[in-house]
Amino acid sequence: MFGPAMLGRLLRNLHMLRARDPVEEELRGWNWSRPPLRPRAYLGLGVSEVACQYCPTRRDVWLRRVQGVRGEVNGGMVRGKLVHMVFQDTARMASRLYAGGVEAADIAARLVGEASKRVKHILEDMGVSNVDGLYELGVKLYKRFALYWASWIEETRQPPWYVEYTVDGWLLGLSRRLRVDALAPGLVVEVKYGSWREDHGVALAGYALALEASHEYPVDYGVVIIVENGGGEIRFEPVYIGNSLRTEFIQRRDEIIDMLLSSADPGKPSRCPDTCPYKKYCL
Ligand code: SF4
Repeated sequence: MFGPAMLGRLLRNLHMLRARDPVEEELRGWNWSRPPLRPRAYLGLGVSEVACQYCPTRRDVWLRRVQGVRGEVNGGMVRGKLVHMVFQDTARMASRLYAGGVEAADIAARLVGEASKRVKHILEDMGVSNVDGLYELGVKLYKRFALYWASWIEETRQPPWYVEYTVDGWLLGLSRRLRVDALAPGLVVEVKYGSWREDHGVALAGYALALEASHEYPVDYGVVIIVENGGGEIRFEPVYIGNSLRTEFIQRRDEIIDMLLSSADPGKPSRCPDTCPYKKYCL
């Protein structure tokens, strides 16, 4: 279900992609001191700030960083946060039980039994009440992730993945405290609510570059775990972090740095997404 065999199946195609188009040395994060990786300025950018292009002109970044505007939190953002917190909490709880010598089947039973209580705590920590079925979504996901981790432990006899891994991205002009959703053996993992977008792959490239710059080991593969259809489905999207995604991330980073250094308003696109948190300020 969620172990080395499944990961192996996901990654098999990526081996072929890598063999056909291996990563250029100049696009390895440890070459941060030379073009094209060397940043024009060190502004401490976030990976999602660079990668996420829901605003085509990037006015969202300009509003936040130049004008000091804070966007409004919308329902999608709250659900995304809940998904992240459930993912982390189940991994940490399963790790704790594993370290205490509890068997995989009992870990699953314990976590499934505590799902309701844990999700109530999570919603309290988030400072939100159970609007629009948040609690039901959280409990459903809590049980799914609990079973995934138990399956991983049973198959590997290893603890769950390292979640919320902090990496220093400063050498690439990024934040000193980037948070990677998870590190699994040989790959970097992002967790998303909604549906697959190209931006997700670009974000994985940002984390891979930062890990390579900071730790000096290659990171070629990633997986995006996507919670779809209101929590009804969990999909695993494997990503080869090759030259095109790395180049795209660096280009987006450079465009944002140029925009912020000039301070000029980048203007508005012809159409804005309905869910943009900055609609109140722009429209
Ligand atoms: S409202 Fe439009 S212009 Fe403003 S940040 Fe959002 S997408 Fe960009």
